[in-house]
Amino acid sequence: MGSSPKSLQAILGAPGVKGKRVSILSKDGLTDFMQSIIFKRQETKEPFYVLDLGVVTALMDKWTRTLPMVRPFYAVKCNPDRALLGTLAALGCNFDCASRVEIECILSLGVAPERIVYANPCKAESHLKYAASVGVNLTTFDSKEELEKIRKCHPQCALLIRVKAPDDGGARCPLGPKYGALPEEVTPLLQAAKVGRLKVVGVSFHIGSGATHSRAYRGAIAAARTAFEAAARLGMPRMNVLNIGGGFTAGSQFDEAATAIKSALQAYFPNEQGLTIISEPGRFFAESAFTLATNIIGKRVRGEQREYWINDGIYGSMNCILYDHATITCAPLACTSNRVNPTCKGSRTYSSTVFGPTCDALDTVLKGHPLPELQVNDWLVFPCMGAYTAAAGSNFNGFNTGAILTYLAFSNPS
Ligand code: PLP
Repeated sequence: MGSSPKSLQAILGAPGVKGKRVSILSKDGLTDFMQSIIFKRQETKEPFYVLDLGVVTALMDKWTRTLPMVRPFYAVKCNPDRALLGTLAALGCNFDCASRVEIECILSLGVAPERIVYANPCKAESHLKYAASVGVNLTTFDSKEELEKIRKCHPQCALLIRVKAPDDGGARCPLGPKYGALPEEVTPLLQAAKVGRLKVVGVSFHIGSGATHSRAYRGAIAAARTAFEAAARLGMPRMNVLNIGGGFTAGSQFDEAATAIKSALQAYFPNEQGLTIISEPGRFFAESAFTLATNIIGKRVRGEQREYWINDGIYGSMNCILYDHATITCAPLACTSNRVNPTCKGSRTYSSTVFGPTCDALDTVLKGHPLPELQVNDWLVFPCMGAYTAAAGSNFNGFNTGAILTYLAFSNPS
């Protein structure tokens, strides 16, 4: 699954990456790389991320091989790191933006507006006007009020009606309670678009983020087929875009989802001429590509229990525990107190609590986690921290998530 020298060259020249140092890693070189960063920075013990662009490249390869008929539009909200965005752009990915700022960010990378879907079903008028002014001409809607705004601010925009995916109950973050037209609302909405002379070109849905029941794609694709037929019955121009949203996680879930999607496309859209299928993966590309290193800034021993304070937490990168319902884990990097065996392989462990740095007791990252005896100034490393982490962090108590640096690496995960 290794990346070609051609894609490596494209990435090194990508906006957001060009001019930055990218360290090429051997297969298991991440720990060494993080140690070298820690030693180089000595006094600065601030947390930092490592973004492995080799992982992003391998995931793009995986997507193209597994779902070649589906064009990915990366959901910028998941992680708007510029090196990640530039890399995805260089690899041919398109983008799902939720706001004016996200559109500005993608355009500033030199990406053409045709490669953007403005996939927020409820947009501020000023943001819609901005989209019109820069030529972002594809958006979603699920209410008559949204159609009215679009008619006023961006009447030439092509539209996707967002339908509610049948609830499967398997998603970590269900989106159905907030978005998507109910089955009985679809025809009246299409009728309203027709009366307003707006161009509805297709259907979109999102089965929920962190989905676990891949069969949900089947129900949603069936709902999309029903909406295509409703438009045809109203005598509207033939729809030709199907947006299957996000909900993918790298690993076996993606393979299961792809199987469910391909089978549902075969059942509900067989031989559909001229159909463009797009999707909005966020977590799939971002989650496993980022590793977070945090410094231990405090410690307390209570009998056999160990308590550690680190310099990132629930109000920072680990907000994913609350908002993304994430389960996270960590491993020691005791390169300050144990240079011989910094990963503490084979060491005795203690049931440990890991607190974040703010003065709120809610700011607790892990409880009952087995960790070796660590000291202040050692490090804890959190893998798979790229999805809905830094993107939604705050600067509560003066710990500014936005200031966390990201170092770039490229491993060849073949
Ligand atoms: N598209 C839309 C409209 C979303 O709201 C989201 C997540 O909230 C995504 C795409 C990305 O979803 P995921 O990260 O599950 O792929």
